[in-house]
Amino acid sequence: MNDFPAKSDIEILVKLQEAETQIVRLKAVLIKVEKEKEKLRATLNQFEYGVEENKEKLLRTMAACRDTEREIQVIDDRIIKSNEKLRMVKTNKEYNLFLREVDDNKKRKDVLETELLELLDENESMEKFSLESEKEFQLLKDKIEAEQKEIEKKTLDDRELLDEYLANQRKIGKTITTSVMNKFVKISKMNNGSAVVGVENEVCLGCFMNIPPQLYIEVQRGHSLISCPQCSRILYHINT
Ligand SMILES: [Zn+2]
Repeated sequence: MNDFPAKSDIEILVKLQEAETQIVRLKAVLIKVEKEKEKLRATLNQFEYGVEENKEKLLRTMAACRDTEREIQVIDDRIIKSNEKLRMVKTNKEYNLFLREVDDNKKRKDVLETELLELLDENESMEKFSLESEKEFQLLKDKIEAEQKEIEKKTLDDRELLDEYLANQRKIGKTITTSVMNKFVKISKMNNGSAVVGVENEVCLGCFMNIPPQLYIEVQRGHSLISCPQCSRILYHINT
């Protein structure tokens, strides 16, 4: 217990606590807002990743279409050549050989053409899907950016208020001794921003435990800084 009358210290500490309560509240609000913004960013990133994936898939089907078209071209050239050879054959054996060549190539071409049709179909739907997902992404991006702006606007006041309370607390802090200030800071840290609490009807309003009668009298007098034996918070008397 302090040996010096501390009536005014208590009054100062109550004011310091008022600022501290607001600081803790505002900091929590701002942290929540940051988390909210982070969540929105993550949602957008995830969507963007999906859009990029769709684009890559589309590029892959486009490449597959081109490859198949090229292969069909090569087969066509082979068929032409085999047909030319067919016109110039001299033996039956050669005739059968080139005929089979033409036949084989035609069969291969049929397979490739069926594949190409499937690929073109896939390509068409991929193109549509990719375009749609890009549009959706743009809409989501606009929406999220607007939301983030709105959040930013709303928190601007909270940030200013926080700065005000912090400045106010520094100002108040200068009017008490360093040891009292240190005590306040230490208890505040221990109790999540609640260092100074009232006592009402012999009950600490921080931990709701009863204060021993002798201590209660001293709190009522307010001549020294009294801490709650249970939660260590600095106590002040509330007149009821
Ligand atoms: Zn207590």
